[in-house]
Formats: sequence, C-alpha cells, structure tokens
Amino acid sequence: MNTQTIVIVGAGQAGASAILELRGHQYNGKIILIGDEVHLPYERPPLSKDAILKPDQTKVEILSQEKLDELDVEMLRNNAVIRILPDQHQVVLQNGEQIHYDKLLLATGGAARRFPLLDALGKHVYTLRNLEDSQALIPVFDAGRRILLVGGGVIGLELASSARFKDCQVTVLEQSPMIMGRSPDIIRQFLLEQHQTKGVDIRLNAKISSASIRDETVAVTLENGEELVADAIVYGIGIIPNAQLASEAGLDVEFAIKVNENCQSSHPDIYAAGDVATQLRANGQYSRIETWENANHQAGIFARHVMGIEHPLASPSWFWTDQFDHNYQFVGDMLAEEWYVRGNMNTEQNQLPKFTLFGVNDGIIVAGIAVNQGKDVRFLKKMVSQSMPFNQEKLLDVSVELKKLI
Ligand code: FAD
Ligand code: NAP
Repeated sequence: MNTQTIVIVGAGQAGASAILELRGHQYNGKIILIGDEVHLPYERPPLSKDAILKPDQTKVEILSQEKLDELDVEMLRNNAVIRILPDQHQVVLQNGEQIHYDKLLLATGGAARRFPLLDALGKHVYTLRNLEDSQALIPVFDAGRRILLVGGGVIGLELASSARFKDCQVTVLEQSPMIMGRSPDIIRQFLLEQHQTKGVDIRLNAKISSASIRDETVAVTLENGEELVADAIVYGIGIIPNAQLASEAGLDVEFAIKVNENCQSSHPDIYAAGDVATQLRANGQYSRIETWENANHQAGIFARHVMGIEHPLASPSWFWTDQFDHNYQFVGDMLAEEWYVRGNMNTEQNQLPKFTLFGVNDGIIVAGIAVNQGKDVRFLKKMVSQSMPFNQEKLLDVSVELKKLI
C-alpha cells in the first residue's frame, strides 16, 4: 500500500495523462488533481478544428467524473494553485486552502502570447487556448465575414482552414518570410500552395504597425503602409509557459521549468511535464516541445519515476496537424539537412495527395513527414529511432511497402 500523496496542478493533457499512467502502473496512493478551469480534463487539438466545425459531434473530455471516481482521484476544479511552499511540501489554493503533497507535478501548460497593440482594441480580437476561446469563435466564423488571422503557425493555419470551411474570407498575416517557421521548406511551400488554392490570402513579411476600431470593424496598417479591414482578428503568435508558480517557489526556470531526464525540477519532489517544461536532452541542451504527444510522454516519465520504474528510451517527437482535408504528421528532427519525396506531391488531378518525406542527415534518416499517409507513421518512427541508413532507390520506390524495408 502506498501512503504517499501526489498532487497534480493543471487538469490538461499532461495532468490527465499522469493520472492514467500512475493508476496504470498500480500506484495506489492518494492523487489530487487541481485545475483552475471549471471543466473536467479535456484535450485541446480539436479546439481549432472539429470543435468549431461540428461542435455537437466533438468530444474533448479526457476523463469523465465517473472515470475519475473509478480511478479514485480527488479533483478540485475552478481553483488555481497560487503558491508552492517547497519546504513545507504544500500548495496554496486561490480559496486559501493549503494541501500537502509528497510529490508534486506541475502541468500548467501555457498561455497565448499577448499582442498588446491588438488587445488594446478591446473588441473583435480573439486568441485560442481553451474551450471557451474555441466556443467564442463559432459565431465569429460566420459565412462571408472577413477574418484576419495574425501568425502563420499551427493556430493561424488550422483556423484559416476552419474559417474557409465556414465560407469566411480569410487573410493570414505572417511576420516572417514563410509560414510554419519550424518546418522544412518543402512542406511549408506545399502548405502555402494548399492554402492559396483554397482561397486563403497569405501575406508574408507582414508586420502590423497600428490597429484601430472603425465602426464595427477592425483596421490594421502594415509596416509597408497597406491597410486591411476585417470583421474580426484572431491571433496565434506562440505561447508563454505558465511557469510563474515555479519561479516564485525558487525553482530553476528559464522561460520554462527546467527538468532533468526524469522530469524532475531543481527540487527533487517537484516535477513538471508538458508545455511548461523544458527538458534536458541527451545532447546536453534543454528544449521544450509543445505537442499533445510530448505532454503524454513526459507524464509517463514522471509517473514511472515516482514509482521507481525505469522509463522506456525516448522515441522521436511526433505531432500532427489537420488543414483542409489533409492530415500532416511530423516525426523527428525538422531541421534535417536533406529532404526526399516518396510518392506524388502533385494535387492537380483533384485527388488527395499522398506522400511521405524523408529527412536525412549524413545518409541517416532523422525525420519524416507523412501527408495523408498515416499508415507510414509507425514505420517512420522506427526508422528514425533506429537511425536507419537512407537507401534512396528502395525507399522512394512506392511499389514497395515501407514495412518491408525495415
Ligand atoms: P494544457 O493542456 O494547456 O493544460 C494545462 C492546464 O493547467 C490548463 O487547464 C490550465 O488552465 C491549467 N493551469 C494553469 N495554471 C494553473 C494553476 N496555477 N492552477 C491550476 N491549474 C492551472 N498538439 C498536437 O500535437 N497536435 C494538434 O493537432 C494540436 N492542436 C492544438 C490545438 C490548439 C487550439 C491548442 C491550443 C493546442 C494544440 N496542440 C496540438 C498542442 C497540445 O494541445 C498541447 O501541447 C498540450 O495541451 C499541452 O498539454 P499541457 O498539459 O502541458 O497543457
Ligand atoms: P506558433 O506555432 O509558435 O506560431 C506562431 C507564428 O506567429 C509564428 O510563425 C510567428 O513567426 C508568428 N508571429 C509571431 N509574432 C507575430 C506578429 N506580430 N505578426 C505576425 N506573425 C507573428 O504558435 P501558435 O500557432 O500561436 O500556436 C500556439 C500553441 O498551440 C503552440 O503550443 C502550438 O504547438 C499549439 N498548437 C498546436 C497545433 C498542432 O500541433 N497541430 C495546432 C494548434 C495549436 P516567428 O516565427 O517569426 O516568430
């Protein structure tokens, strides 16, 4: 019988996943989950996509109340942790209550990075991080309305797709020379063309210098002097990790909470996982990965470590994005030097393009991108984890299934 109390702060992806991992590994001590939102734990990926397009048919909940009861988890909702007292092993809640922990997991995620110039407008300006933000966009994306999306990252592009599905007029402003900054050129160019084909007006090197409310519309002026008028602006310009609790408690924080390979912070009884954590990697560098899979993976590392179970070797990072009718899955190191195409990137015949890209460094497969080829992802992950040599002739021959080449 384990008599320890584990407190999890943040009822999102990493928090919920940590519960499933702990109970899955037969942890039978007490678990207390504290969330500042009113909701039961829910996942965010649908919020920019199906939760806007078909809200009635979209389920976002990760753990129902019945499941939390079955897992014997005490959940406190709508109640933020406002302070950690590491020496006393306690957290202080917004309502003044103090709760003891033996081990603490900080899974507080991140918040939308603010754009004060746009926030100052006071109306017709939106961001997207939580369920309420997503619900607020449903009436905003009404047919014919002019939607200005600021930021050509995943939020901007997924929302561009959702807004076009709802027949809005969509413009994306990206300040850099290209969209999807952290992806290779070959896929960025493909994404750009897909959006343009679907009627999205993408402006690159587009920096806003001023903004104002004009009647019931918003007007922005770009640095090149051009003015754009829209019915609403949604901006997605990255996130800021919710790490203030940790820094105020004296933990080692550099923008995000620094954790070791076990997801332990600079205090051995306090862990962090998900978007709020920057983890020490095998190359000696810290890095943060803002994906659904990383939140689950780090929650698993935490659970195993507190239970003294060895954690499996790191698998290559993986995330997906759905834009228009296309599913894109990214595996491994997107900074790979050379990229090779297996399949046909051509979309002219009105057919769903299906192709897989290999990212190669010094003759070794270090990354892959599968476009409408979900069946290849399992094999890409294996190839990257095994550092498989890239055999161009065999791997680019679509008549041979990838699974036969491992
Ligand atoms: P979160 O899931 O954000 O959970 C953190 C929770 O902690 C929140 O509920 C927050 O309110 C709470 N909290 C914060 N501070 C406190 C406090 N002091 N006390 C109590 N509670 C607190 N990734 C993909 O791989 N694929 C996708 O398609 C994809 N789509 C996405 C779409 C959207 C719109 C968004 C926003 C993200 C998407 N992501 C996607 C990223 C993925 O959802 C995140 O990486 C993941 O949710 C991170 O999990 P987390 O547990 O760290 O944070
Ligand atoms: P993001 O992916 O970091 O992209 C932000 C983009 O906005 C970048 O291209 C950035 O350009 C640009 N930008 C920054 N400031 C700008 C400005 N003033 N004007 C115009 N463009 C500007 O962040 P995000 O799209 O906001 O996403 C937020 C979070 O949601 C992330 O954690 C993300 O992982 C998550 N999310 C994930 C998915 C998915 O994985 N499918 C989907 C939705 C959301 P620079 O590079 O030049 O700064």
